[in-house]
Amino acid sequence: MDGIDGRLRENLTRVSDELAAACARAGRSPDSVRLVAVTKYVRADIAQRLVQMGCLDLGESRPQELVRKATSIEGAVRWHLVGHLQRNKVRLVVPHVSLIHSVDSDRLMEGLEGALSAQRRVADALIEVNISGEAAKHGSDPAELERLLTRASELRSLRVRGLMGMAALHASEAESRHQFERLRQYRDRHQERFPNLDLRELSMGMSGDYPQAIAAGATIVRIGSAIFESVE
Ligand SMILES: *Cc1c(COP(=O)(O)O)cnc(C)c1O
Repeated sequence: MDGIDGRLRENLTRVSDELAAACARAGRSPDSVRLVAVTKYVRADIAQRLVQMGCLDLGESRPQELVRKATSIEGAVRWHLVGHLQRNKVRLVVPHVSLIHSVDSDRLMEGLEGALSAQRRVADALIEVNISGEAAKHGSDPAELERLLTRASELRSLRVRGLMGMAALHASEAESRHQFERLRQYRDRHQERFPNLDLRELSMGMSGDYPQAIAAGATIVRIGSAIFESVE
């Protein structure tokens, strides 16, 4: 074990411990939250070491980088696209992606459905909702959710499984918790409205705010810098 492995293991242990503590405080089982390690800060060989340590859910924010790492990293990795997806990148990413966290328009849903069915594949997706109110953030307006989920109900190859959201950049702990609670409420409300869909997943929480997201009901947290800090 060299220095890189040691630091990576140390960071991973710290994050797993904090995640378990946040689950305990919320009265939840640690198995109820999936950790997606966001590898966008590191080279493929560093991400490969994480796979060897048992992290099999890896995320990237850019489609090209996801494809690059997915084709060079070995192991049964489930790849998550957590960043914005343009329609002209859909065909590129579809052969590699397991869960797309950032679907925010019906045109993108239709592009994905077309590419998936042409390639005889299926993939899961989340609808990204703008919960911070920040204009610069991607994500659909909450008022659009009903329309997007109506369209999602008609798809066969793209399976919408829940919602994704990001808290505002400089939000306090209380503010981010409040924004995450709101995402859960949108999910609960629309799950009732769309009993034919299975909207179990809530992807929310990053290095700076995952304890608040877990308190609010996150089922997936997307963590990068806390895992890779001082590794390279
Ligand atoms: C980079 C990124 C993350 C991870 O962020 P950290 O703060 O480094 O944990 C999570 N989600 C998205 C959409 C990202 O782009």
